[in-house]
Amino acid sequence: MLRQALLAASRSDGVRKVMETAPLTRDVVHRFIAGETIDDALRVTGALADEGLLVSLDVLGEDVHDASQAEAAVKHYVELLERLAAAGFGGRAEVSLKLTAVGQAIDEDFTLENARRICTAARSASTTVTLDMEEYQRVESTLRILHELRRDFPDTGAVVQAYLRRAEEYCAELAYEGSRVRLCKGAYAAPESVAFTGKGEVDKSFVRCMKVLMGGKGYPMLATHDPRLVEIAGALAVLYDRDPDTFEYQMLYGIRPQEQRRLAELGARVRVYVAYGEEWYGYFMRRMAERPANLGFFLRSVATR
Ligand code: FAD
Repeated sequence: MLRQALLAASRSDGVRKVMETAPLTRDVVHRFIAGETIDDALRVTGALADEGLLVSLDVLGEDVHDASQAEAAVKHYVELLERLAAAGFGGRAEVSLKLTAVGQAIDEDFTLENARRICTAARSASTTVTLDMEEYQRVESTLRILHELRRDFPDTGAVVQAYLRRAEEYCAELAYEGSRVRLCKGAYAAPESVAFTGKGEVDKSFVRCMKVLMGGKGYPMLATHDPRLVEIAGALAVLYDRDPDTFEYQMLYGIRPQEQRRLAELGARVRVYVAYGEEWYGYFMRRMAERPANLGFFLRSVATR
């Protein structure tokens, strides 16, 4: 119930305006978000890289309905990738891209061209792009764009959300040689008709999907903070005889940082998803919806200021 309310709030302009103008939210927001500028993103990337962690950088912003905003997002990504290369982070940091930030709500071909420009910049920076997966209505379009991009940029990462009833099927289609696939539970509201809504069902789907990906030929990117699922991932790596460099764990910046370091120290590849930028509202509210303790932390910080 609380999760649904927070996800509804994440799409509400009214709540967003109140939150964005409240100065006291800033410190709490920065627990999950690297900052607002490319300099902030590079600083955090450097600190994580020093600890042996890999990074995926997400420029906050989504659901753009205006071509000029999409163009600004593309330019920002291109600049970020140039700066990443100049700083020597090409091998350690990639970018995550929400297609709705570069025009998916406007036109699919326009979005594909914009994503292509970002993939071209990523290749010049010796790194890769992963296409985040957003609301369930966008899944088929995102997969079409992914397959088009993979003709020229086969290392483009896909995302499968385990809460979707079709998740296992998507994993089977994507578990081929060279295919980078992030598996996550899914962060958006979705109806019973297309998604599992109970936690137990989502977790079981995640395990089935992991089996398909870890038993397949691709490069699984297991994105979860769930201790049980991380443990099962380790067991599957043994079962399928996977070398540590043939898959990776992924977690969000600010969530279970000690676990991120522990896994890296054990020799696993661990990538931290680092979001930055001014458009933090939707991202932040989805993190609140995931974990009531985060909400408590947020409300306490508001109350004690
Ligand atoms: P949850 O069920 O939220 O948490 C399980 C357990 O993890 C908790 O019981 C607790 O033990 C532990 N845990 C969780 N949060 C915390 C915390 N703050 N502190 C301590 N322990 C905690 N979603 C999308 O829809 N599309 C995407 O493209 C996408 N990309 C993602 C990329 C990455 C790298 C990650 C990590 C997540 C991504 N997500 C994405 C979000 C994802 O779908 C989930 O909403 C989010 O990861 C929470 O699910 P969970 O697997 O951590 O499990």
